[in-house]
Amino acid sequence: MKNYINNFTYGRELVKKLIIGAVICYTLALLFRASAAVQVGFMVAGMALFIAAVVVIVKDCRCPHCGKVIFLGVLAVKNCPNCKRNLVTGRKAKKVK
Ligand SMILES: [Zn+2]
Repeated sequence: MKNYINNFTYGRELVKKLIIGAVICYTLALLFRASAAVQVGFMVAGMALFIAAVVVIVKDCRCPHCGKVIFLGVLAVKNCPNCKRNLVTGRKAKKVK
């Protein structure tokens, strides 16, 4: 088991992997046009991975300080939009010089 700084970084890594997996499944679905059964299989798998990513976001991608679910821009955001604390270090966001 890997050591993550907090739930948020753990959830974010998981979401990243699930979304990459979903994109791969959809890409494969587009490539396998010859076989409808294979195509549907990949689309269902991609959908399942996408749903799993949403579940992980709601469950784990919360601000460690105020508990707000970070949904939009979960892979890029650094500071909580609610309490303005850094999601990894917990420090209050500093003003940019
Ligand atoms: Zn917060």
